[in-house]
Amino acid sequence: MALIALLPGDGIGPEVITQARRVLDALDLDLTYEEAPVGGVAYHSVGHPLPEATLDVARRADALLFGAVGDPTCDSLERALRPEQAILGLRKHLSLFSNLRPATLFEGLEDASALKPDVARQIDLVIVRELNGDVYFGEKGRRTTAAGHREGYDIMSYDETEVRRIARVGFETARKRRGQLCSVDKANVLETSQLWRDVVIEVAADYPDVTLTHMYVDNAAMQLVRNPGQFDVIVTGNLFGDILSDQASMCAGSIGMLPSASLDDAGKGLYEPIHGSAPDIAGQGKANPCAAILSAAMMLRHSLGNGAAADRIEAAVAQAIRNGARTADLGGTMSTSAMGDAVLAVL
Ligand code: ATP
Ligand code: MG
Repeated sequence: MALIALLPGDGIGPEVITQARRVLDALDLDLTYEEAPVGGVAYHSVGHPLPEATLDVARRADALLFGAVGDPTCDSLERALRPEQAILGLRKHLSLFSNLRPATLFEGLEDASALKPDVARQIDLVIVRELNGDVYFGEKGRRTTAAGHREGYDIMSYDETEVRRIARVGFETARKRRGQLCSVDKANVLETSQLWRDVVIEVAADYPDVTLTHMYVDNAAMQLVRNPGQFDVIVTGNLFGDILSDQASMCAGSIGMLPSASLDDAGKGLYEPIHGSAPDIAGQGKANPCAAILSAAMMLRHSLGNGAAADRIEAAVAQAIRNGARTADLGGTMSTSAMGDAVLAVL
């Protein structure tokens, strides 16, 4: 029996996770749950956004289902105590180095996309972003130049083993989809990117069934808007992936519809909607639970070896949307639980 760490967190996190849990329960899977506080809720109850007891549950669990963290009442706290540190801490402690963000436009939600409907309809891609390296984790600081000017610096670097393991995730993901991997870098100007490209090409030898292409990040940003249908799987570093995955999500549609996974190299993962805690609508029963429900589907597929159940959930969400189910973010009036009901009705 698989153990799920249920980490609802702050704001709308508990509201959307409740609906994801209802959907999982309806499938009658062999799962047990341990719920633990994380984020502002944890800070207010035990004085830390990622308590040791929560980390302990996370370590023991086979997978983590996470809502969101973020709490305006914590804004003046020192950085180590802010709710956002909980998710960074979980990624670091659990070595969750790959972030998968599928971006798909659901039929009927063409108007939610930032793109023209006929272009938006072509989007069906996954961005695989490296999470544990790159410029975010290199040496950083301030210094004074010879001319007496203030200078800030952040070192960008990648070790070949870090590139190799994320490249493998990219190839494996592409192999299970349409077999096309686009590696995004800036190899025309960055040494880090040249190493990245060399290593990705080496790894490609193990995946003759996958077609590998390379694209500079500036061009990739343009192509995502111009012709997103050309992409199946994109693999890229932490910085470029951060930017491109947000861009892709707005091309695909509402922030309330898109899930994500952050995985280690042994199949364990943290699954969360891409949206945050949405303090502006928290507690009002307005939040769209689909991103959380679809995150639970990703969990079944990637950590629990149950792709069939994942397919069923994804199909049920798509059908509910086709049937006209709409929360406020999608231009409708349904409550969070009514949207959950709509998905359950299809299931
Ligand atoms: P955080 O600090 O946790 O990232 P945020 O306010 O910066 O919070 P989001 O929580 O992602 O960012 O919210 C951005 C906007 O999108 C808000 O107006 C919010 O109400 C809306 N939003 C986010 N998630 C949902 C959802 N599931 N359903 C409906 N609206 C949502
Ligand atoms: Mg935010």
